[in-house]
This record gives sequence, structure tokens and C-alpha cells, in this order.
Amino acid sequence: MGKLDGRVVIVTGAARGQGEQEARLFAEEGAEVVVADVLDEQGEALAKEVGARYVHLDVSREDDWRQAVGSVEEAYGRIDALVNNAGILRFNALVDTPLAEFMQVVQVNQVGCFLGMKTVAPAMTEGGTIVNTASYTALTGMAAVGTYAATKHAVLGLTRVAALELAGRRIRVNAICPGAIDTPMSNPARLDPQADPRETSRALDELYHKLVPLGRIGRPEEVARLALFLTCDDSSYITGQPFVIDGGWLAGVSVI
Ligand code: NAD
Repeated sequence: MGKLDGRVVIVTGAARGQGEQEARLFAEEGAEVVVADVLDEQGEALAKEVGARYVHLDVSREDDWRQAVGSVEEAYGRIDALVNNAGILRFNALVDTPLAEFMQVVQVNQVGCFLGMKTVAPAMTEGGTIVNTASYTALTGMAAVGTYAATKHAVLGLTRVAALELAGRRIRVNAICPGAIDTPMSNPARLDPQADPRETSRALDELYHKLVPLGRIGRPEEVARLALFLTCDDSSYITGQPFVIDGGWLAGVSVI
């Protein structure tokens, strides 16, 4: 028996990184997984490999959401779960951030999450779960990623409000708040065919050894296991909460 047997789950931004690992794990656990992304080639290949369905979905576009949800309902007749995982990161000091860049990050990270809940929740006619991907930076500041941090704080606010509003329809809404995780977002060398990902991961482990109590960067598979917990019945009495997964980074500072 899988933890998600027969459940229909949409994972956005699932062509690579954390979303990819969520799609893989959820499929292993018996879900009908819908891999949604703008990276069509990678998303289609993954969907084929794990026996999922691929849909092109730019999370910042309401029309894309309507079409994606329509096609999933047509294929399966139901939607049970959503993982709002798609996100983008831009580095800039606040005073140097062009408005267009600020709005682009808001449009994907914040509006994308809002549109996902707005479009998918009404289709969850038999209850369901929503997992929103926030961040460590939803709970604290971090220099040079002010736009990103603002959107992730907003994702947490949206999560809490949605949990209150959707509880009566048996839809649970939670957020995950990863620290640094070894995906192309934190480790762009993973996208470089010339680079050895084991080498770049080792370099990141060394960097985070100094910053993070558990002494290394996190793995996307670890985040996927948290998303699974919040999507399956193991978390049946939990809603409206942020779940930090950061190797202890947010616990405080150490002086010894
Ligand atoms: P990633 O860059 O490897 O993957 C992001 C995925 O989102 C990609 O497949 C990308 O194509 C997709 N995407 C981007 N814009 C999209 C759009 N408009 N519509 C649909 N898909 C889109 O990064 P990741 O680390 O796997 O990030 C996953 C989530 O985790 C993001 O929300 C990110 O903000 C969050 N997060 C990541 C870290 C980290 O250290 N990697 C830490 C905290 C939070």
C-alpha cells in the first residue's frame, strides 16, 4: 500500500529540483501525478519515466491554470492534492532592484501560489491537501534576496488564510520552508553539462558546514519526504502551519 494510492496530485515546477523529487516520490507512493512546468522537454521526459502526466503550466498565468485544471479533471475526474512548488530567485540589493524584476518574482512565487489555490481548491470536491513552498526566508531576512523573501513571507500569509477558509471543505493547507537545498536554484552548476554535480555539491557542503548546524546543504529528496508527509494522511490533523527544513539554520547562532 502506498501513502497516496489513487490520489490525483498536481506538482508545479516539477521538471527538476525539489518538484522532480516530489513527483518521483509521490508516484512511488501510488499517486496519479501531474507534472506541471514550463520546461516542456524535461517535464515530459520525467512524466514518461515515472508514469505521470505532463501539463504545460506557467503558474503566473490564470489561463494556464484553468486549462491545466480542466485537463486534469477530464483525465481523472478529480483532484486531491496540489504542491505549489514552482519558484524563481533573483539576487539584488533592494535599492538596486528594478521594479520589473521585483514584479516578475512576485508574479511567479506569490501570484502563482495564489492562482494555484484559487483554481484548484474548487476542484477538490472531496477534500484535499495543498502544500505551498515558502522558504527559510519566509521567516527571517536574508541580504540580497529581498524580493524573494517578500514573496515567501506572502506565501506563508496566503497559507494561513487559505487554511482558515478551506478547513470547512476538508482541505488542509500547509507550507514548507526549506533552507539551502542542492538544486539548480542554489547550485546553478547543476545546469552546466561541463560541471561535475558531485564536485559542486561537495563544495556547497563545505560552505554550509560553517553556516548550518547539521553541517551540509539539504537534498531535494529530503524536502520531498516532508511534502509527502503533508500530502498524505500522516498529517491528518495539521493545517495552516509552516514546516522548516533547514538543518537547524534557523535555530539561532552559535558562539562556540
Ligand atoms: P529549481 O530552479 O531547480 O526548480 C524550479 C522549477 O520551477 C523549475 O523546474 C522551473 O522550470 C519551474 N518554474 C519556474 N518558473 C515557473 C513558472 N512560471 N511556471 C511553472 N514552473 C516554473 O529550484 P528548486 O530549488 O527546486 O525550487 C523549488 C521551490 O523551492 C521554489 O519555490 C523555491 O523558491 C523553493 N526553495 C528552494 C530552496 C533551495 O535552496 N533550492 C530553498 C528554499 C525554497
